[in-house]
Amino acid sequence: RSVMERVLQRRSLRMRNMQRAWRESPEGRKMMDFRKSLPAFQEKERLLQAIARNQVIVISGETGCGKTTQLPQYILESEIESGRGAFCSIICTQPRRISAMAVAERVSAERGEPLGEAVGYKVRLEGVKGKNTHLLFCTSGILLRRLLSDRNLNGITHVFVDEIHERGMNEDFLLIVLKDLLPRRQDLRLILMSATLNAELFSSYYGGAPTIHIPGFTYPVRAQFLEDVLELTGYKLTSFNQVDDYGQEKMWKTQKQLAPRKRKNQITTLVEDALNNSSFDNYCSRVRDALARWMPDCIGFNLIEAVLCHICRKERPGAVLVFMTGWEDISCLRDQLKAHPLLGDPNRILLLTCHGSMATSEQKLIFEKPPPNVRKIVLATNMAEASITINDVVFVVDCGKAKETSYDALNNTPCLLPSWISKASARQRKGRAGRVQPGECYHLYPRCVYEAFAEYQLPELLRTPLNSLCLQIKSLQVGSIGEFLSAALQPPKPLAVQNAIDFLKMIGALDEKENLTNLGKYLTMLPVDPKLGKMLIMGAIFRCFGPILTIVSGLSVRDPFLLPQDKKDLAGAAKSRFSAKDYSDHMALVRAYEGWKEAEREGSAYEYCWRNFLSAQTLQAIHSLRKQFNFILKDAGLIEEDTNNNNKLSHNQALVRAIICSGLYPGIASVVHRETSMSFKTMDDGQVSLYANSVNARYETIPYPWLVFGEKVKVNSVFIRDSTGVSDSILILFGGALACGAQAGHLKMLNGYIDFFMDHNLAECLLKLKEELDKLLQK
Ligand code: ADP
Ligand code: MG
Repeated sequence: RSVMERVLQRRSLRMRNMQRAWRESPEGRKMMDFRKSLPAFQEKERLLQAIARNQVIVISGETGCGKTTQLPQYILESEIESGRGAFCSIICTQPRRISAMAVAERVSAERGEPLGEAVGYKVRLEGVKGKNTHLLFCTSGILLRRLLSDRNLNGITHVFVDEIHERGMNEDFLLIVLKDLLPRRQDLRLILMSATLNAELFSSYYGGAPTIHIPGFTYPVRAQFLEDVLELTGYKLTSFNQVDDYGQEKMWKTQKQLAPRKRKNQITTLVEDALNNSSFDNYCSRVRDALARWMPDCIGFNLIEAVLCHICRKERPGAVLVFMTGWEDISCLRDQLKAHPLLGDPNRILLLTCHGSMATSEQKLIFEKPPPNVRKIVLATNMAEASITINDVVFVVDCGKAKETSYDALNNTPCLLPSWISKASARQRKGRAGRVQPGECYHLYPRCVYEAFAEYQLPELLRTPLNSLCLQIKSLQVGSIGEFLSAALQPPKPLAVQNAIDFLKMIGALDEKENLTNLGKYLTMLPVDPKLGKMLIMGAIFRCFGPILTIVSGLSVRDPFLLPQDKKDLAGAAKSRFSAKDYSDHMALVRAYEGWKEAEREGSAYEYCWRNFLSAQTLQAIHSLRKQFNFILKDAGLIEEDTNNNNKLSHNQALVRAIICSGLYPGIASVVHRETSMSFKTMDDGQVSLYANSVNARYETIPYPWLVFGEKVKVNSVFIRDSTGVSDSILILFGGALACGAQAGHLKMLNGYIDFFMDHNLAECLLKLKEELDKLLQK
């Protein structure tokens, strides 16, 4: 032990020398000057003392004041300076992988070191860290995973949980687990960081932990709402009443011929009218309803385009940050803007995007200064709201929405919809414009809609299905799931917890007594949704791993089939070409992916994607996730090195269908044929419709009695997205109780059956079985 001690001491001295040398170098000095200009620096001593004296503290401070990049670094530096650098181990969690990576890179640069020296990062399936890494940025999911195997966080000295104001599910979960851990680890320091002032909530959760606020400085930002924006851009709001299912276009018209004053009057009249005729709430909900239908479709895009034109033509220099709902909208708008004479001119506009799945090279561009006379425009998701700071932003365009999962526990249906943000988010977005000089914020919704926003967003724990979470709680071995979750800051509804437990039992991850089954244990090792994890495991066991790997990767990234608003029909037809007679969106994905690989080998990938309405970027993402899953499964011992052996049965269509069914069960709908139409009913007898872009929506009849699907989504009615037709026999063998029983305890036994399946064509077996069943049913 003393040898170890001596090694660490020597390393600590080396770290100190390196740190001092960097600080005395010209670049190091320049960097220090920048760091000293951040508001956090004023509070440095106070913060270090507070952390030394208290086990838990809560720190709040405006975005950009230096919480994430500075505070963990202060600890690291002071430990290094005191000659104990190699003895500390600091973890700082981020809600999103991209911010963990960006921040680690930035902090390394501030220390004049390559990434993976003193500072590293770890996110799902990826990471850069070395034996000298003492400050690790990771996603909150990674820390939770570590807690599964190392319940005391041995060796860790400081834990920072960042962005707690977002109330993400993993953060709320972490807070419970850490609260439980603190009494056992008196020496561990926990620092919670929040961008807003609601620190009291967290402080009282930890028995009145001290709070410190870092006063920031931002320039004033002028807020303009839809009313003003219309005025500026010459767009006209005709009437909210005219908006119906088909009439979206009626809402916005470029009627520039109207005199400005008259236009203004019309809007005011409309608002007054509504106020006189109905209650304010009623009005707001009407406006909300109406806006929900068009925002942000292509009409919304035109408005954004008009605002951007206005800024570029009339306003002072400064970068523009546009908040949109998701990657799809961002890429559509980007394409639209690229075709614009002014906004698409690379000599005048540097058009960038910022979202969860962007490449690291693109990420760096966001922070860089554009050349003189070029204006930077960044299209971003709400990631740019708090976790990433772009310094030179002067103009913010806020569409008022963020894609958010919500969860209807009563119907057990998750909904992923763009929904209105909270007042806190709107303020936060606005604040992004005032970092370097006074700014402007254009909110693309009426002021009265803003007034109707909720104060804060609902915590994620209360608006998502708890399937994965409950599985993780089970593997923490902390007793009853319900009891554990009742210790949360704001506990979820018992019904939501029960739904999750029922689901885990149904797929065979928990047994009747709520204990983890073997399948359940395997599932906790795989960092994917339990359903997809199960599909992977089954694919591995049944040796048809290739196509299943593609399907699971596709389902965890996003749909590579594009659906441009104005070419829906062509795009749908292109997709159905991949379906042949499969009656399966999942298999269409496999064919599309394989076709793309083929085209890539022939050097015609670009043309292939263009012709087939496929997103090359998404296919690329699927491709790399595929490799990562492959790695994890090898690591978990579920597949062997020799991939051929794992894929012997890949071409067996019936088997692929069966594995899809085993993963997606209990997502099944029965196909009800009427004379001229079909309808679909789920297990709970709910009527569902097919998504317009599903290949199955294009057939007149489907020769399968069942469709299995990954998710139902509530939009106006309930839709099922991707689906695959399956037969009775597949459903009996691979879905439902029979299959669950088999998977729960008998993975090994199943392995024994495989040779049998390999010798006999599985499809034939299933067909025979179906015949038998049909005979039985006819009797
Ligand atoms: P907070 O966590 O309080 O929101 P950060 O620590 O993330 O603030 O950022 C502090 C400051 O560091 C930002 O205002 C920005 O000026 C600068 N900064 C952060 N990341 C980068 C980066 N990747 N490149 C350049 N500057 C950055
Ligand atoms: Mg931060």
